[in-house]
Amino acid sequence: MKGPVEPFKIKVIEHVGMPDEKRRTEAIREAGYNTFLLKSEDVFIDLLTDSGTSAMSDNQWAGMMIGDEAYAGARNFYHLEKAIQDILGYKYMVPTHQGRGAEHLMYSHLVKPGQIVPRNMYFTTSKLHVELPGGTMVDCIIDEAHDPENEHPFKGNVDFKKLQGYIDEYGIDKIAFVNIEQDVNMAGGQPVSMENLRKLREFCDDYKLKIIYDATRSSENAYFIREREKGYENTPIIEILREMMSYSDGCIYSSKKDCLVNIGGFLATNDKEIFEATRNMVVVYEGLHTYGGMAGRDMEALARGLKEGAEYKYLKYRINQVRYLGSLLMDASVPIVKPTGGHAVFLNALKFLPHLSREKWPAQTLAAAIYEDSGVRSMERGAISKGRDKVTGENIFPKLELVRLTIPRRVYTNTHMEYTADSVINLYEKRAEIAGLRMVYEPKYLRFFQARFEKIDL
Ligand SMILES: *Cc1c(COP(=O)(O)O)cnc(C)c1O
Repeated sequence: MKGPVEPFKIKVIEHVGMPDEKRRTEAIREAGYNTFLLKSEDVFIDLLTDSGTSAMSDNQWAGMMIGDEAYAGARNFYHLEKAIQDILGYKYMVPTHQGRGAEHLMYSHLVKPGQIVPRNMYFTTSKLHVELPGGTMVDCIIDEAHDPENEHPFKGNVDFKKLQGYIDEYGIDKIAFVNIEQDVNMAGGQPVSMENLRKLREFCDDYKLKIIYDATRSSENAYFIREREKGYENTPIIEILREMMSYSDGCIYSSKKDCLVNIGGFLATNDKEIFEATRNMVVVYEGLHTYGGMAGRDMEALARGLKEGAEYKYLKYRINQVRYLGSLLMDASVPIVKPTGGHAVFLNALKFLPHLSREKWPAQTLAAAIYEDSGVRSMERGAISKGRDKVTGENIFPKLELVRLTIPRRVYTNTHMEYTADSVINLYEKRAEIAGLRMVYEPKYLRFFQARFEKIDL
């Protein structure tokens, strides 16, 4: 496979650091072998996350100049509201500073102590915002999602037997709502099919259960539906999006991903009761309900980015750039999650470093080793991200122990993908020399952001 042709040209460039080998070794030690603690200046290619790292277009930057910084009723709020109505089809929306702000408002409103929230695989901040009001997140994704080798085209799908199992086990009153993520991040950026969403709506209607989406990567999911699902081959992305959203009662959205902006988020719904409750809470935690922690200019860039991020031509390039990196690695037999997902290539650390036990944190180790080798920053998505069992306090070792090479949108060229692949392939060839890590500092919440490690001898 060749890298896709970029459907844009470059107008502004940013210089990046190119630390030498000595500095890289020092920098990762100073960072406690946690790539989140590296200084950006010490990074050459930053594949830590696709969150807030997109390059905006000239159209978005132009929009920033018409930011209306009024405290109340800024014109950009109405532009954003209209963009959400036009593209996602929800009637009401509440702006927030980023995705977790929306999760906080939505989940603290809907979750009562002791309740269960089934979801097609957890996400870190989502799980925490279900737990803080006293809920528990449980998994209802199909088994295929837990198997990195399985090439199911819609690994994000819900397993209805699992969902029914929770209803039978806990009783319908204990289920707060069903939470569905699109292009499931922790499963490797894997999509949900339209058929699955449609069936879920029917299933939940029978029980009068609400469905709330984590629509953060819904545009990338919509692209996969068009590419892989019968009947959608020629459907405009916006039509696909509107149909997807029509099967839900509302969504939370981190606009730092598919909306091509550096900050922002919102929740959206057709449910007046949810809207009124969350619009009231937004003023306590985020800001007035016409800005929710965003500046007027941020809302304008977001309104325009939501549209640009749902264009077929752009999405085709985007998904195929990620796929290009995946294909370079697969050609060299490097173990990755298959098929390549929407926003990232995930390395299977258990297969990459089979000589390391789970307690030596293979994914954390591999992410640190890649940085040391080439200045490419990736992140751990495995046991460190998963955290400890709420009840027993023991480490949980999920089946997936992954390193995520996340591709910022419109930021890196195909040559950057080739450089990254070369580094990973180089390490794979000398994988037997890579030793594990010991955790020496562990914070209580979302430990992967701040935990520190030391190298242990092989
Ligand atoms: C990033 C993300 C969030 C949280 O959003 P922030 O903007 O980082 O607060 C929630 N859900 C998913 C699936 C995400 O990827």
